Amino acid sequence: MNLFVETYGRQPDGVWASPGRVNLIGEHTDYNEGFVLPFALHQRTVVAAGRRAAPGWTVRSRLTGETVHIGRSDLSPGAVKGWAAYVAGVLWALVDAGFAIPDCDFAVESDVPLGAGLSSSHSFECAVLTAVEGLGDFSIPGIEAAKLVQRTENVYVGAATGLMDQTASLLCTAGHALFFDCRSLEVEQVPLDLASDGLALLVLNTNTPHTHADGEYAERRRSCERGAEILGVRALRDIGVADLPEALAKINDDVVRRRVRHVVTENARVQDAVALFRAGRVREAGPLLTASHASMRDDFEITVAQVDTAVEAALRAGAYGSRMTGGGFGGCIIALTDTEKAGSTARAVEDAFAAKGFAAPEWFTAVPSAGATRLL
Ligand code: ADP
Ligand code: MG
Repeated sequence: MNLFVETYGRQPDGVWASPGRVNLIGEHTDYNEGFVLPFALHQRTVVAAGRRAAPGWTVRSRLTGETVHIGRSDLSPGAVKGWAAYVAGVLWALVDAGFAIPDCDFAVESDVPLGAGLSSSHSFECAVLTAVEGLGDFSIPGIEAAKLVQRTENVYVGAATGLMDQTASLLCTAGHALFFDCRSLEVEQVPLDLASDGLALLVLNTNTPHTHADGEYAERRRSCERGAEILGVRALRDIGVADLPEALAKINDDVVRRRVRHVVTENARVQDAVALFRAGRVREAGPLLTASHASMRDDFEITVAQVDTAVEAALRAGAYGSRMTGGGFGGCIIALTDTEKAGSTARAVEDAFAAKGFAAPEWFTAVPSAGATRLL
């Protein structure tokens, strides 16, 4: 990779890549020990890495134009702030888990949109992790690696994220979505061949980054925990849709009641979508996506005006289904359309944004792609 050569004046020892992801359905079900259905994008973070003689690590990012040095003493939570914390955090999690890791230089390039709910942070962390594994000549099994990356985010970076994003980034395969059970940690590759079904999945970035949503996420998490406590279950995963009317009748707090309803119905929608995918009936999953959006908007209250406008415009333009993807408070929407209607659907959203004075959105059609790999 050129950036590595430009920065360090030598060739890297290897190049690794790890993708961003779209979550098709199953939002905020992960920490309720439920189901999610992400797939990997072709947009990814590429990390070139080379062993170095001097102790410590150096990382350069094309995106920030900065080079940051990380020393042994930085391998404790909070020591490195800003974007390089994602690298220091992975190194810390590895050392903390007892791995002997090599001193090395990294150069990073990415085309995953940042802060858009496509998980650029996890694709960055997973790319660094696989690079260190490659140079260190050790290999950590999938879910264990995902848990290490979760520690990076939760403890080092300080973001209360679950296990979905890094599991997707590490374990997804091309042409499939990943059905992930966040309790048993079992994964199943579910075929998702959009093109041969004459379908496209439009991903449209509303350009409303979810920057200050951490407090909101924490509040949603607390409401879910409260709901589980009232209902006497370990997690909301343990409530099925059939039990929902009875369960809701036990909850006096209207906010908690609506949060519970979102999680329980969303968990059922993921399973329904998987059943349709397994049967090759992807198009019919559209209404599940739209129902998921309504639930996020009305019951979980994690959408914003731009996101709702985009979903409504996509549906008016004839999409089979549409929803916000990611943790909420901005970011991207997805819309399932016929292949030839992806562009006109995106233009319908552009028009709706212009009419409301919102900044122009960006869009692309998603290709379910491979998880983390070594490129060179
Ligand atoms: P998301 O994961 O949804 O994209 P986050 O806020 O969790 O949003 O992560 C975005 C942050 O990840 C950025 O602000 C930046 O600190 C870091 N990041 C991601 N990719 C890169 C990169 N290529 N170079 C430097 N920092 C990056
Ligand atoms: Mg992130």
